[in-house]
Amino acid sequence: MKLSLKIFLGICIPSIIVAMIISIIVINRNHETNIEAERQNLIQNLKSIERNLNNVDESYGKQIIQLMSNNYSSKNIHIIYYYDTVEYNNSESINPNMIDYSNVQNSEYYVEIKNIDNNHFSIATSKLDNNRYVTVEKNINEVFDKRKELIYNCIYIIAISMIIIAIIAYIISKTLTRPLERMKKEMTKLSKGDYNINLKEGHDEFGRLAKNFNNMSKELEKRNNELVEYANSKQIFIDNLSHEMNTPLTSIQGYAELMQKANLNEEQKQKYLKYIQDEGKRIQDMYKKLLLLSYKKNTDFEKKDIEMNKVFAEIEDTFKERINNAGMELIINNQLSTIYGDETLIIMSISNLIKNAMNVSDKNTKIMVNAFNMNNKKYVQVVDQGPGISEENIKKITEPFYRVDKVRSRKNGGAGLGLSICKSIMEMHGGKLIIESEIGKGSIFTLEFN
Ligand code: ADP
Repeated sequence: MKLSLKIFLGICIPSIIVAMIISIIVINRNHETNIEAERQNLIQNLKSIERNLNNVDESYGKQIIQLMSNNYSSKNIHIIYYYDTVEYNNSESINPNMIDYSNVQNSEYYVEIKNIDNNHFSIATSKLDNNRYVTVEKNINEVFDKRKELIYNCIYIIAISMIIIAIIAYIISKTLTRPLERMKKEMTKLSKGDYNINLKEGHDEFGRLAKNFNNMSKELEKRNNELVEYANSKQIFIDNLSHEMNTPLTSIQGYAELMQKANLNEEQKQKYLKYIQDEGKRIQDMYKKLLLLSYKKNTDFEKKDIEMNKVFAEIEDTFKERINNAGMELIINNQLSTIYGDETLIIMSISNLIKNAMNVSDKNTKIMVNAFNMNNKKYVQVVDQGPGISEENIKKITEPFYRVDKVRSRKNGGAGLGLSICKSIMEMHGGKLIIESEIGKGSIFTLEFN
């Protein structure tokens, strides 16, 4: 059964039951009060007749009753006078034989309500002395008619009230279930993968439920997007990996075939063997880097305080001459004494950044390495005066195999893995890699250590 119907019936059925119970109680009380009034009225009349009879001798009883009867008949009250036998009776409806005088005690008014041929009578009898009784009777159909009228009125009022209550119950049930209906609709949308859900929020139970529902759909959308993104990046990674592996493998195969088929002199053989060796090295290098990328997930690495003077001395040894030979200048400005981390990995990160700066920069430019403390954090910055990177590319260059200048990068032996390794190494250290750049002005790559 629908909730709206349940609410509708839940309001209507109890209302009709309560209305009927109240009506029955009111009608019965009213009827009893009317009957009691008639009863008391009859007793008063009987008392008055009694008084008149008591004032005269027994032998005049019948005459007195006769005299009074006209007056009482006008009030619709009829008298039966019994003195050893029925001496007087002006009631057309009551058979005096019906009256059981033995029930009537001295100084007591015996009152009965009787239904005779579908007419209702109130009958009161009193005992004057040992063998004298007076009975008065009054037709009280009017009281029963009033009850009937009251019943019809109540049915009429209940019917009208029920129509009004039904309309109100319908409006209430629809108002209460409207948010649920909307929620049901949105749920169906959600189950079909449409996360664009915006239910009206509020402070009542439905409003709060709507808020939770909106949050849930947003969270689901976020999770779903993350999953899609993850699946896409995985696919891109696999596509790039197969492409990157294929290039050197094809070269190796080509040179090997050439060496088998062609008649080559020693110098040519050595040249081709060198190519094969270089391509093999490239594959090995890529393998090592990929291993490092998965290292984060699989291996615990050992952290310790690394002396930064030692680190930069090693870096200077590796790069100074190469950079100078390329017509550039390397400036190292170190204000840090130590960094807590894995020495090999940190040297690898800084080296990657310097190598990249060297690869993209022109002659007569500077590559600066600054290491400093700021706001309780430690930073190592590599600043170059190279071509800079667009905002769009900044977002992508930390993805594995992503290269901005593909030709130049490949010529320099890069597979687009350096920055994704830097990013992973920084995550392993609880820090991050920050990239700032402006096209034509150069780039700043910052390693932030917490
Ligand atoms: P690779 O090992 O091929 O250099 P990286 O992940 O280190 O790969 O770098 C990705 C790409 O980002 C590079 O191919 C290069 O085009 C671009 N890049 C890296 N560093 C810089 C820089 N300092 N200035 C401009 N472009 C850079």
